[in-house]
This record gives sequence, structure tokens and C-alpha cells, in this order.
Amino acid sequence: MHQPTTQARASIYYRYAVHEPWLPSSHPAQVRQRVVIVGSGPAGIVAALELARLGVPSVLLTSELQVSQGSRAIVFTRRSMEILQQIGVAARVTENGLPWRFGNSYYRGQRVFRMEAPHDPDDRYYPMINLQQQYLEEYMLDAVSACPLIDFRWGNKVVKVDQQDGFARAEVDTPEGPYRLDADWLIAADGGRSGIRSAMNLPMEGASYEGFFVIADIRVDLPLPTERMAFFDPEWNPANTILMHREPHGIWRVDYQLPAGETPEEALQPESMKARIDAQLSMIGHAGARWEMDWSSVYSARAMTLPDYVHGSVIFTGDAAHLLPIFGVRGANTGFQDAQSLAWHLAFVIKGLAGKALLANYSAERVGAAREIIDEAGKSTRFMTPPSRGFRLLRDAVLSLSLTQDFVRPLFHWRTSRPHEYARSALNSLSDDNALFTAGPAHGAPPRNIRLSADEFLLDHLGGGFDLLYFTGDNALPESIQSVVAATRARGVPLTVIAVGSTHPVAGADKTLADGDAHLRKRYGVQSSGAAYLLRPDQHVCARWLTLDATRLQAALASALPR
Ligand SMILES: Cc1cc2nc3c(=O)[nH]c(=O)nc-3n(C[C@H](O)[C@H](O)[C@H](O)COP(=O)(O)OP(=O)(O)OC[C@H]3O[C@@H](n4cnc5c(N)ncnc54)[C@H](O)[C@@H]3O)c2cc1C
Repeated sequence: MHQPTTQARASIYYRYAVHEPWLPSSHPAQVRQRVVIVGSGPAGIVAALELARLGVPSVLLTSELQVSQGSRAIVFTRRSMEILQQIGVAARVTENGLPWRFGNSYYRGQRVFRMEAPHDPDDRYYPMINLQQQYLEEYMLDAVSACPLIDFRWGNKVVKVDQQDGFARAEVDTPEGPYRLDADWLIAADGGRSGIRSAMNLPMEGASYEGFFVIADIRVDLPLPTERMAFFDPEWNPANTILMHREPHGIWRVDYQLPAGETPEEALQPESMKARIDAQLSMIGHAGARWEMDWSSVYSARAMTLPDYVHGSVIFTGDAAHLLPIFGVRGANTGFQDAQSLAWHLAFVIKGLAGKALLANYSAERVGAAREIIDEAGKSTRFMTPPSRGFRLLRDAVLSLSLTQDFVRPLFHWRTSRPHEYARSALNSLSDDNALFTAGPAHGAPPRNIRLSADEFLLDHLGGGFDLLYFTGDNALPESIQSVVAATRARGVPLTVIAVGSTHPVAGADKTLADGDAHLRKRYGVQSSGAAYLLRPDQHVCARWLTLDATRLQAALASALPR
């Protein structure tokens, strides 16, 4: 019988609420569900909220009675915030997080590079915002509680999954014993140690890196700005790397690499950690600062993915699908994109608006994203923890040169998580004008946000289905385009038409954005009336035209929704 701990987890700054388990005896017999989601980490929750936004109910199961423990994700990207905005959580993150955009790299005590992440007036969100994962999960679970389409069950652990003919059967253990739950689709969002992935015996591709990092969250009062600090080959930890990030509530994350040969057990000895954290504080000019430990653990990087995320009725997402190095803040940030993508692909298949080929597309696009990240993350991870003597020699040469040579310094700028562009997606239109545009988001890219007024942005108007941005100064959309829109909606496909460039409402459009200074048109590379962009429900561009016509709109919608 599953007995999750009922003792609140320890933390010096976060008060864990312990929830009541969901018990089968208090609920009527279980009927077969459309979707069961296993795991209430960032990926599972976003999948549930996004499915609900598209009108698909789900059962969300989690083995524990509390949100996640310890120091996990703390840095969330702008694209993650745009996704969180869609599910109604971004405002609370903005209210409580610490935004930032600068990073500093030091070599042997000297600053050799200052990274500046772009941030312009068209951005609603900062490039990065720091907030502990516990808070984020709490905010997302509040959104779940307010959503009647999600049946959330604390303390329900999936112990077995069987593939049946056209559905999945889960055995779910609870504090009063197991019950059976059938689902047309079972989403495995059960994290990096996914029991479902192991039980299904699915091998992952990729690599594990040598080198351990201690992850320590401490409370300390440091009068320093919220900026990333990376120290290479510092005095107190020669040949190794240290990272520091500020978190809300007076907490700092200190990640330090262990010398080769030191075991995690040795590293986590309190006296060892005290000496090293004192040395780090002293190195940054705060010798003797009083600090208190909240959490410590040891981490080593892995960069692996399943080669396919869809297996019969079981679909993998988030860390259950891939394991990505935390350098470059890739784990949860990638999980949000996976879950957002999965939700619309699956919702459209469930509603019969597309065939199962759409799910194969989810897998192809997100495995592609994971492989790209693994490639990029591999470079930063090899820089931080060189895997061989050759890599170390090369890295040390770069580090030494950077003391005197400016041109070498940008090499310190490792890339952080960014949204994958589905440039070669099977859903992109073949007959549009993508190649003829000279500006604006191209095939597969997420849309560029645009400020429309003091607190109004383009992305505030998107979401919940396909969006057609139609650029016009006329009073009405052409009849032929209105007919395609009406026929598409009649099939049940959610499609919103947004007219851009008129000061009066445009007939046939659901809303009209004036774009008085033509700023949106310029940033989208639009030269004349009649141009258009078609965005998928995850907001990525699947077609754009210099001049839209009804036939090509119909073709683009057919490509985006394969039967
Ligand atoms: C030290 C550290 C620092 C990190 N820093 C960052 C960062 O700054 N930015 C970033 O983007 N990412 C970061 N990450 C990664 C991030 O924490 C993960 O990528 C993210 O939590 C993955 O989300 P997930 O929903 O896929 O899985 P998880 O968060 O692991 O959630 C899995 C869920 O499944 C549940 N579960 C597991 N098994 C079962 C079962 N059998 N039945 C029912 N429920 C089950 C668990 O209780 C949990 O709710 C960091 C990770 C670590 C360890």
C-alpha cells in the first residue's frame, strides 16, 4: 500500500502544505478516462492545464502529498513565461520572481565576459526570471484547483501500466490500496526517474558527463544584483567551475564542481560544505557573512532522450522523455514547451480534427528539440566539466587567452534555453510565401511579441486554437477567406481571425488591432494589405503569405491538421 510521507518537508523559507490523499473509497466506480496524466511536476501540470484550455478533461495523478522538494529549477525563460501566461500563472511569477538579464564570467578572479541578454520594449517578460520550483508548482496547482476539467489526485502512485487494445490500463496505489484506471491516452510525466519508462524498457540515446556539482541553497544577505555569476578556475577550487544565482526570499544557489576523485558522500559532509561556501563568500568579497543552509545535493549532468515519445497509448513528456543538463536552464523550460506542444496535438486527435499522424508530429518535433538541446548543452557542459585531457587543454587555453584578448571572451557566453524552431515541421505549409519574407518569425518559429500599448501585447490576444493574423486596411476580410474560416470552424477547428492595421473593426475578423505606427507590420515583414500569418495552437508559425488567398489558406490548414 502506497504511504506517501505526511510530514511537511523541511525548508527555512518555504512552508510546505501537506494535502489529503484522494481515496478511491470516496469516489464512484472509475470509468475509462480520455487522458490520465502521471506526475504533477511542471510538465504534467502544464499538459493538464493546456488540455483543459482546449476543452479536454484529464485525471492528474501524483504520488506525493506535497509539491517538489529541495532545490530544483530556479531560472525560467521568457518563452516559459509566455506559456505560463496562456495558463494564467505568469502574473504570479512576475509578482514574486526576480527578473534578470546579465551574466558575468570570471577567470582566476578577473571578470572576462559580461553577457547581456536582449530585452526590448516589445517584450512583456524579462529574458530570465528566478523563482524556486516549489512556488511555481504551487501557483500552477492553484490554477488546477480552479479548473473544473482537471480531476487532481494527491497521493496516487502509478505502479503498473499495461497497453491494452487501443487504451492504457494503470494500476494506481493509494494509502487505502490500489485501484484500476483505464485511459484512452496515458501521459507519462513522471520525471527523470520515470518508472513507466523503465517498466516499458525503453532505451534512451545520449551521454552522461563525468564531474559532480554540489548544489547548495543558502540564506545569506548579499547586497548584489540579480545576475548570473560563473567562476572558472577560481583560487579556492582550482581547475573547477562555480555558479551563483540569486533566488527570492534571501536565498542564493551556489553550485560548485568537485575535484576529480572526490565522492558525493565526502562532498556533502557539513564541514566540507562549510569550508567551501565560506571560501566562495570570501572570494566574492563577503568573508565572514553569516549564512544558513536550506538544501544541498550532488548533481551530475546527463544529456539523453528517448528517440520516440509516443508508444501505443502511452506518451512521454518532460524529464520522463529526456534528461537535459541544468546548465543553460533547460529542464523545466523544455518541459513547458513539450507539454504545451503535446496538449494541442493530443487534443486535436481526441476531437477527431486530425489523425494520429499529428501525434507522430509531436514526437518528431520534440525529439528534434531535445536533440538540438543535447547538442548545444553538450558544448556548455564540456566547457564547464571537460571530459578529457584534450578538452581541458583547449578550454584552459581559451580561459588564459581571455585575460588579455577581447575576441576570445564571447566564448564564455554559453547559450541558455530557447524555444525550438520547427523549421522543417511536416505541419508547415508547402505553398505559402515563407521564403519571400525578409523579416518576421519564419516557419516553425514562435511569434515575436509586440507592444501594442502601455500594458497590451500581441501575445495577449493569441491562443486557444489556430490564429490567423490578417494585415489589412480594408473594412472586411475577402469573402472567399471568410468562407474558408467559416468552413474550418464548422468542422470544429478553433480558429481566431485577428485583423491588423485598421482603426475600425474589420468585418469577418474576431478582433482588430490598429497598429497605428505600423510597428507590428514592420516587425512581421509585411509590406502591403492582404499579407497574413497562420499560427498553430502553440503559437508557432505554420504558414505566412505576402498575399493570402482562400486556396492557399485551405492548403495550409490541411497541412497543419493531417488526417
Ligand atoms: C539541482 C537542479 C537544478 C535545476 N535547475 C533548473 C533550472 O534552473 N531551470 C530549469 O528549467 N530546470 C532546472 N532543473 C530541472 C527541472 O527541475 C526539471 O527538468 C523539471 O522538474 C522536470 O519537470 P517534470 O514535470 O518533467 O518532472 P518532475 O518535476 O520530476 O515531476 C515528476 C512528477 O511525477 C510524480 N511521480 C513520479 N513517479 C510517479 C508515479 N509512479 N505515480 C504518480 N506520480 C509520480 C512526482 O511526484 C512529480 O510530481 C533543475 C533540476 C535540478 C535537479
